Amino acid sequence: MQMAVIGAGISGLVCARKLAGAGHRVVVIEKSRSLGGRCATRKFGQHLVDTGAQYFTMRDEGIRKEVEQLAAGQLKKIEKPILSEGQIYRAGEERFYLANGNNRLGSLLADGLEVRRECEAGRVVQEGRRWKVLGEEYDAVISSAPWPQTASLFGLDPGIVVFEPNLTMLLEYSAPWDGSCYAKMDSSGMQPLAWVACENGKAGRIQNGKSVYVVQASVEYSREKLESKPEVWMEDLQLRLEKEWGLDVGLRGAVFAHRWRYARRSGDAIPSRMAMGLYVCGDSATESRIESVWKNGEETAGQVLADLA
Ligand SMILES: Cc1cc2nc3c(=O)[nH]c(=O)nc-3n(C[C@H](O)[C@H](O)[C@H](O)COP(=O)(O)OP(=O)(O)OC[C@H]3O[C@@H](n4cnc5c(N)ncnc54)[C@H](O)[C@@H]3O)c2cc1C
Repeated sequence: MQMAVIGAGISGLVCARKLAGAGHRVVVIEKSRSLGGRCATRKFGQHLVDTGAQYFTMRDEGIRKEVEQLAAGQLKKIEKPILSEGQIYRAGEERFYLANGNNRLGSLLADGLEVRRECEAGRVVQEGRRWKVLGEEYDAVISSAPWPQTASLFGLDPGIVVFEPNLTMLLEYSAPWDGSCYAKMDSSGMQPLAWVACENGKAGRIQNGKSVYVVQASVEYSREKLESKPEVWMEDLQLRLEKEWGLDVGLRGAVFAHRWRYARRSGDAIPSRMAMGLYVCGDSATESRIESVWKNGEETAGQVLADLA
């Protein structure tokens, strides 16, 4: 059978691997150049910084085994704590990252798969019992794009499934990290700075003598400023960071900003099967976490295989 997976994020790639492993021809269609989707990393001057998923958990033994096999020596643990309202957040929780960037998880999962990059899927249409995408017919099409995008590809009403935006910034300072904690988060949702992590907490990522902070604005703030000029919120978030973390304005270095239009799902999840041969995977159908979308990619592939058996 022939199958198409739209999106080379973690869920799509895990799903594609399982389908290909069962002997089917699988084509992964990805609109951007990079792999990993929201498990994203970028070069920031001489530094390497995760701009999407900051870390991942591996509570599930099966996933842990697979990641350990795939990533081997690249798999690292964040040692310093996350503070939430001054308290250690989930003491004892193991948090992982990949030394060469969390997006490497995407490249490792894509190894051996047929991935068409810089290839944007358009409307998926039914042709008898098959589904057509970009002029080719498939027995099954699985979309891992966030639901608002998937709904449009499938010609469906997005309804009330909500994905929240996130305004993210990377900020460099010519000062070393004090090493006291990896990140601080605001669990109340009331503060504009919802998450601030010091990327120096990931060994080997940041050049000596510098520190780099990843700032994620709150849902409320991100919604309100999503369509504003970036200069407006960039300066505001930077001043807030400097005040809260006691950083010297005179030591400012490079700055980068990214608008995630569909960062995380907040409304109800949707079922994976839309119709026979037409599926959704990823955080439209589960929690917005790497480990959850990985599991969902596996489960969706299992459902596809059972349906088409
Ligand atoms: C800022 C931020 C911080 C986060 N922090 C964490 C964290 O610390 N820990 C954690 O576990 N999770 C975190 N998450 C959540 C986690 O990153 C996501 O839930 C997960 O990566 C989603 O994976 P996915 O495969 O479902 O979707 P995606 O990664 O979004 O993959 C979908 C892919 O589909 C592609 N696509 C979309 N439309 C098309 C089209 N028409 N044609 C072709 N391709 C298309 C996209 O380019 C993308 O590559 C964070 C997310 C964000 C945004």
